[in-house]
Amino acid sequence: MSSLYTYIDGRYCSDKGGKLFLNINPANKEVICHVEETTRSLFEKSVESSQKAFEQWSSLSVIERCDRLRAAAKLLRYHNDALALIEVEDSGKPWQEASTLDIISGAECLEYYAGLAPTQVGLQQSVNNDFFYTRKEPLGIVAGIGAWNYPLQIACWKAAPALAAGNVMLFKPSEETPRSAAKLAEIFVEAGINPGVFNVVQGGEEVGSWLCDHPLIRKVSFTGSVTTGCKVMKAASSSLKSLTLELGGKSPLIIFDDAGLDQSVAGAMLGNFYTQGEICTNATRVFVQENIYDNFISKLKRKTLSVIKAGNPKDPITNFGALISEKHYQKVLGYIKLGLTEGARLLVGGKQVNTPDCQAGFFIEPTIFVDCNDDMSICKHEIFGPVMSILKFNDEEEVIRRANNSNYGLAAGIFTKDIQRAHRVAHKIEAGICWINQYGVSPIEMPVGGYKQSGLGRENGKETLNQYCQTKSIYIGLDAIETPFR
Ligand code: NAD
Repeated sequence: MSSLYTYIDGRYCSDKGGKLFLNINPANKEVICHVEETTRSLFEKSVESSQKAFEQWSSLSVIERCDRLRAAAKLLRYHNDALALIEVEDSGKPWQEASTLDIISGAECLEYYAGLAPTQVGLQQSVNNDFFYTRKEPLGIVAGIGAWNYPLQIACWKAAPALAAGNVMLFKPSEETPRSAAKLAEIFVEAGINPGVFNVVQGGEEVGSWLCDHPLIRKVSFTGSVTTGCKVMKAASSSLKSLTLELGGKSPLIIFDDAGLDQSVAGAMLGNFYTQGEICTNATRVFVQENIYDNFISKLKRKTLSVIKAGNPKDPITNFGALISEKHYQKVLGYIKLGLTEGARLLVGGKQVNTPDCQAGFFIEPTIFVDCNDDMSICKHEIFGPVMSILKFNDEEEVIRRANNSNYGLAAGIFTKDIQRAHRVAHKIEAGICWINQYGVSPIEMPVGGYKQSGLGRENGKETLNQYCQTKSIYIGLDAIETPFR
């Protein structure tokens, strides 16, 4: 049985005192490896290493840094299949997703910020006879803390802007999916990025909390639940760190009667069953206009029963994988039970997938509840599994009000052929992303992040680079100093 250790300064480091935890394949419950949790003393070493690496990395020219990030992107693409296999085994997601999206998205992010960082400029302005100019400077050591649904992609989405701007990153993957971030660290070193620029610590809540309150860490970029996000914010306040928080959601999908049935059913399925529902932006509250409601649900039922193939995630025809863990599986089943007791009507699914290659893992059928109302638990709380709730609505004003009636504000979808209505509704929806006649697509060029309790700051897009920089103003006096103290 192999073991995985903390990665510091370009090599794996073990500490005999480190507790071991298991990395388990959720599709068959087999143990993949043991992971040694980072001890406090190794954690301190990783911070020291990051500090040294920051001096070297931040003094390279931006062109030199970005060349190395591009080399890393090339290696990611080269190792696509090996990395995708790690994601499939660790997370239970289908190979057909991981091999075509997860690693490529990481590589694209590195390429994007490698292109963007050299274009960053300060400003220069005259003030009477004097002038000032501004410089964009890196923050120093930035912590990245990841969730388990897109382990490598999350690591890249955080590391790319951070490193391109001249910072170094201390990253902690989720304890459920510990391997790919360590591989990314190896790839960075192979690409010529100085050892120590991207160190990886392993563990859960305790190690995560060290990252949030260490005084030498200047920023935390966190992806995870709202509950943990609140803890991160509290801990980070002790040293006033800057924060990016990418948190949960309960996103609405609004389907107007002119949307076209095929297109809107496809959108609802994509927005609920991709990555077996374990996506933060998933459109789990599907609002369907009254006059197409019956047709919509009968087509949705037919499609769900005919095109979703749950099975061994490594099989290329599988398009629906296993949930991450026993605990999460029980949580999702618990919500399904609540849906039933609170009076929602089960249209499809609702139990463990009962085929031979799914019985050994944490597979739950794609599940659809209809005749839901806004107060049901399944419509209010993030489930983070393959559970879709369908709600009926009558008119535009009503649906906007109901869609916005949530503490979350991560994403939304609007399906309609009426271009004016589409934009009108999108402008009124309280969410960081609104897809019109599309769902879930997230190109690196587009900022992602939440309104309300779904988060702070953005990932991807141009503005994110600034969130990994601080602005220094430099004022130059050309005249004699005016002062009352001569
Ligand atoms: P989680 O909040 O349980 O854990 C996230 C990470 O935080 C893990 O690495 C965990 O070890 C660490 N952690 C736990 N306690 C901590 C603490 N006190 N201090 C610091 N770190 C701590 O979330 P999860 O179960 O891994 O992921 C699912 C959640 O993530 C969902 O709510 C989902 O919506 C959200 N998510 C959001 C986005 C986004 O971009 N908005 C993307 C993916 C997932």
